[in-house]
Amino acid sequence: MKIHFYGTGSSEGFPALFCECEYCRTARKIGGKNIRTRSSAQIDESLLIDFSPDTYAHEVYGGLDLTKIKYLLVTHSHTDHFYAADIEGIFPPMAETSPERKLEVYGNEEIGKLLKDTLQKGYESKVDFHRTESFYPFQIEQYTVMPLRANHMQSEECHLYIISRDGRTVLYGQDSAMFPEETWEELKLWKFSCVILDCTSVDRDNYFDCHMGIQDNARIKERMIKEGMADEDTKFIATHFAHTFAPYHERLTELFRPYGIIPAYDGMEIEI
Ligand SMILES: [Zn+2]
Ligand SMILES: [Zn+2]
Ligand SMILES: [Zn+2]
Repeated sequence: MKIHFYGTGSSEGFPALFCECEYCRTARKIGGKNIRTRSSAQIDESLLIDFSPDTYAHEVYGGLDLTKIKYLLVTHSHTDHFYAADIEGIFPPMAETSPERKLEVYGNEEIGKLLKDTLQKGYESKVDFHRTESFYPFQIEQYTVMPLRANHMQSEECHLYIISRDGRTVLYGQDSAMFPEETWEELKLWKFSCVILDCTSVDRDNYFDCHMGIQDNARIKERMIKEGMADEDTKFIATHFAHTFAPYHERLTELFRPYGIIPAYDGMEIEI
């Protein structure tokens, strides 16, 4: 299974829109792996996780080929994860597609509402919506997908996803603060090849009860190994970094090294 990270910043991006802070000024200057667009990742050829407001930039500069994306898994409705207005791009005359071309969108009730409210009437001709519920797994081609309950927003059912194919299993664990116990109950039934975690607040933990920092990530890793969900071959990757915490790639690489966690960067690709 191949995982490609297109966006590894949090909702404001790094450097952040309008931001005059020292970190953002420096990031604008040095660029490279210090540029973090809004969140999205691809699994193999046809599966995209989240539809970021930077999806167009990912297509033009990041190598994303949306003509190959058949399935879109959405974690929650925050605009850095689901920018519904750009889904309109699949309709003519903005795009010419074959009559049978459809985008299969999987997400919670709120995502269904946003699609309905944002897109033109008759959007069902190009977009199929599948409502997800935590702990009710489904199949997308050869992938088994298990939505889990995140600890992120009270107003909707935010998901983490387990995605599994041919014995390779990844946990897409953002956005979330420390996982709720009912999510751990499900996680315990799996063995992971790769675990991707929210690390919005880097050196500060439990950020507003919605996000995690390094120590939280390390606690998750420790518990997963202790309880048999992971072992020394499991790759742990942190992502979704906020500008406030100086998420320069080199700094994060140093900070994460003692914990055996890899900080993601825009354009990072791994094979698991
Ligand atoms: Zn986010
Ligand atoms: Zn800033
Ligand atoms: Zn969020």
